[in-house]
Amino acid sequence: MTEAYPITDHTYDCVVVGAGGAGLRATFGMTKAGLKTACITKVFPTRSHTVAAQGGIGAALGNMDEDSWQWHMYDTVKGSDWLGDQDAIEYMCRNAVPAVHELEHFGVPFTRTEEGKIYQRPFGGHMKNMGEAPVPRACAAADRTGHAILHTLYQQSLKHDAEFFVEFIALDLIMDEEGVCRGVIAWNLEDGSIHRFRAQTTVLASGGYGRAWFSCTSAHTCTGDGHGMVARAGLPLQDMEFVQFHPTGIYGAGVLITEGARGEGGYLTNANGERFMERYAPSAKDLASRDVVSRAMTVEILEGRGVGGDQDHIMLHLEHLGADMLAERLPGISESAKVFAGVDVTRDPIPVIPTVHYNMGGIPTNIHGEVLRPTEADPDAVCPGLMAIGEAACVSVHGANRLGTNSLLDIVVFGRAAALRAAEILKAGAEQKGLAKDSADKALARFDKMRHASGALPTAQIRDDMQRSMQRGAAVFRDATILADGKKKIDDIVNGLDEIAITDRSMIWNSDLVEALELENLLACAQATVHSALNREESRGAHARDDFPDRNDDDWMKHTVAWLGEDKSVKLDYRPVHTWTLTDEVEYIVPKARVY
Ligand SMILES: Cc1cc2nc3c(=O)[nH]c(=O)nc-3n(C[C@H](O)[C@H](O)[C@H](O)COP(=O)(O)OP(=O)(O)OC[C@H]3O[C@@H](n4cnc5c(N)ncnc54)[C@H](O)[C@@H]3O)c2cc1C
Repeated sequence: MTEAYPITDHTYDCVVVGAGGAGLRATFGMTKAGLKTACITKVFPTRSHTVAAQGGIGAALGNMDEDSWQWHMYDTVKGSDWLGDQDAIEYMCRNAVPAVHELEHFGVPFTRTEEGKIYQRPFGGHMKNMGEAPVPRACAAADRTGHAILHTLYQQSLKHDAEFFVEFIALDLIMDEEGVCRGVIAWNLEDGSIHRFRAQTTVLASGGYGRAWFSCTSAHTCTGDGHGMVARAGLPLQDMEFVQFHPTGIYGAGVLITEGARGEGGYLTNANGERFMERYAPSAKDLASRDVVSRAMTVEILEGRGVGGDQDHIMLHLEHLGADMLAERLPGISESAKVFAGVDVTRDPIPVIPTVHYNMGGIPTNIHGEVLRPTEADPDAVCPGLMAIGEAACVSVHGANRLGTNSLLDIVVFGRAAALRAAEILKAGAEQKGLAKDSADKALARFDKMRHASGALPTAQIRDDMQRSMQRGAAVFRDATILADGKKKIDDIVNGLDEIAITDRSMIWNSDLVEALELENLLACAQATVHSALNREESRGAHARDDFPDRNDDDWMKHTVAWLGEDKSVKLDYRPVHTWTLTDEVEYIVPKARVY
């Protein structure tokens, strides 16, 4: 195999796959610690999906109202519907305040209050005094917070001379016989060459897999490549049934209207012009957490109170906020509404619909970003040499549902944590064992098979089939019939993947092949999602089942772990939720009934 594909070898202390917020924070943290670090990315760093984040990054700075990280932690545990690991949530919320100050010092141009402090806006689920009333906790740079953060982190990476391999697509991990990760194989799209990166530690920061669905807010590059690599390496994926639908994707386009729009005073109405959220969530109203708002919108539509000829969407009103305020605080979404819905937000409401937005599940890790390979004896056992951070990972701070603003926080806090861990356990320039002669063979055999696939079905057709099946079979509302149907469809598509047709056999900028490889990764994610969802017979967070409407802590307060077999089967198991905290400054937050 290596004869057909000559390999260029590299040796680094660390190799990071992905240059979104998580990947960049880890990359320059590791570089700064003196570790020789390579960052591989399939798109130019500042084109990563992090750039699209709008509303803000959560931290209890208390700039606009009294706040504390313990309240932030309480909200996050509650928002996770008690599936989040409380040690990880504590780590994230207490590190949030220094993390945002660090971003400020790196140069993120946050919007300012009159006194010159970082501006903060309210966001769904963020409350003061253990759920009493909304508190402004989302630190914002207008409605382009992700853009500001990503560009700043990229500048920091350049300042620290991080080494980038741009438009390189990582194909598969290199695992040795002892189950240790030794690096990654990548394909350089520009010249068609194959590269083998050997490293003491490999970090997956490859983002989410929103593109498994038909309507999603994420970039076309969010194809779960890290998840696919991990599954093929015989490691499990965790809590994949938990998928967040954002209440306000622009109807027809999927493009996101930030929750910050409701944080600034926007509200939703049905066909009767009624502010229906007052009925579903009397205290939090339009700022109830995302699963609550998405389900309320879906109920309104299902019960015939949707807007439009097909009664299939809801209206979001901002026009009462005034043109000046909209121009100052929500300029980006005003533009999106104009371009994608033809709406002038100063005069008319925006048509919106719940749209797939975030994947709570992913590659299981501990709070240092180290990937887990759980066993019966040790559910927290680590896979040596491998880390995962950001949306690709499941640490798990979001549990069954993520609060808005907690992902930008997750990526910088755990990007930094991974760098700190690497600095602690690795020695710069340490001698690395040689790789086995055949270390690239498995990855290249898969690549070569896909490159020469000569079936009858174009990638686009299989992808469309998968996306529509997921949209129906892994939706906001779920029951055994819907999920079993989804599972069957996805299993059939996975088993029929050999029928794929690749028409371009070249090695340079072969987007036909890139899309096929991405599809294989998406299918791994889709399969883990539908199998995990069908098996979880309860409702928790974003996983809402009509046939099991209650949360069942006795049987189901546990993480799902899904292993994908080489024979395309899925094996499910479970591991305990971390019901302890890191310090005695906070207590474990005991599960309570859902009251919003
Ligand atoms: C429209 C939108 C708005 C959002 N708004 C907010 C918000 O206001 N607040 C908030 O907290 N969260 C928000 N989120 C969520 C948050 O932005 C994301 O979860 C987060 O930015 C993900 O960051 P990441 O670094 O994990 O991955 P990404 O930013 O998705 O980066 C993934 C990286 O991996 C690389 N990559 C992937 N596969 C490969 C491969 N095979 N080989 C090489 N490189 C690869 C890509 O090139 C890219 O650099 C929003 C998300 C969306 C979609």
